[in-house]
Amino acid sequence: MKIHEYQGKEILREFGVPTPRGTACFNTDEALAAAKQLGGKVWVVKAQIHAGGRGKGGGVKVAKSLDEVSQYAQQILGMQLVTHQTGPEGQKVRRLLIEEGAAIVKEFYVGMVVDRVAQRVALLASSEGGMEIEEVAKHSPEKIQTVRIDPAAGLDVDEAAAVARAIGIPEVANAEAVKVLQGLYQAFVEKDAMLAEINPLIVTADNHVVALDAKFNFDSNALYRHPEVVAMRDLDEEDPAEIEASKFDLSYISLDGDIGCLVNGAGLAMATMDIIKLYGGSPANFLDVGGGATTEKVTEAFKLMLKNPHLKAILVNIFGGIMKCDVIAEGVVAAARQVHLTVPLVVRLEGTNVDLGKKILAESGLPIISGNDMADAAQKVVAAAKEAK
Ligand code: ADP
Ligand code: MG
Repeated sequence: MKIHEYQGKEILREFGVPTPRGTACFNTDEALAAAKQLGGKVWVVKAQIHAGGRGKGGGVKVAKSLDEVSQYAQQILGMQLVTHQTGPEGQKVRRLLIEEGAAIVKEFYVGMVVDRVAQRVALLASSEGGMEIEEVAKHSPEKIQTVRIDPAAGLDVDEAAAVARAIGIPEVANAEAVKVLQGLYQAFVEKDAMLAEINPLIVTADNHVVALDAKFNFDSNALYRHPEVVAMRDLDEEDPAEIEASKFDLSYISLDGDIGCLVNGAGLAMATMDIIKLYGGSPANFLDVGGGATTEKVTEAFKLMLKNPHLKAILVNIFGGIMKCDVIAEGVVAAARQVHLTVPLVVRLEGTNVDLGKKILAESGLPIISGNDMADAAQKVVAAAKEAK
């Protein structure tokens, strides 16, 4: 689960990481009032969406007067902000952060992610702040410092101080940088984050270390122990299909292809998307209906996929283990009838009672295309989607 920058900064402050003072706003009047309240001479008007790259996309503006604050607030609120992370359709801006302008001397990058191979939290830091870290990693990987933090010891002072030095934070600011890194690590661990990023972390003209941006992504499996994080959820920023899916306990992720996939088990769902790609098709979604795929769940899954205007065909790929194939087949038939299927449907069943399941599909009177195995089903669904174009 992602949150907005201003919410991320609230968390950072809680863990002792300095940030500029700022206020979240929903309209131009609030923005102007917030700027007056903050005082000073320079303000930054920042679009709040769950995507990075806002600066480049025109969603971060420095205002040198209250008039400019109003002007930029008006300009940014309601805009369809396109960044390298939003996709070409962009994301509508509904919230702003008005914050005091900082005197930047240099921008750095610091971030933490879970390194699954090392089974540790990895701290990444770079002198190349403000840029996309993926670009730095690609073109000048030597400019990224990586420390895999020992979970028993945590991030110790010496380690943090060495990282700060290695990326070129001046010695006078070293102690503050250590506090920031340790605070970030503590926040990461205590809040069950999967990603925490400060880009840029800056050193100011008077040698203070300040977080100018904040990005968090939380492990949704751990949200039950963080109601304060759940309270920060902004459904406007999430995919409506994915929100709908979560109500029915379906794991659903929208993709930009045209072949809907309904699969039981995350591993099989991944393999199904792979094989569709292999045969030249493109999946419209990832969808795992889970082990207990009831008729109701399968029906909801069909409804979700059919809401996608790009959908050209559906592939149902089910392995009947605990769930028997005949039960699944009945569910698929009932669901297909209920939703008045308008696109070709390919079904591949395997496992317990597979023959009975295939018989139910064949006798349903529905135009279901049967796949003998995964390769056959994938080829058939790719062909059906191409024909439908
Ligand atoms: P994004 O990463 O989405 O582009 P940032 O919050 O990192 O958004 O802002 C982009 C750039 O705008 C920063 O790299 C920094 O140069 C500038 N900036 C952001 N906030 C402030 C601020 N409070 N004061 C001065 N400059 C800022
Ligand atoms: Mg940034």
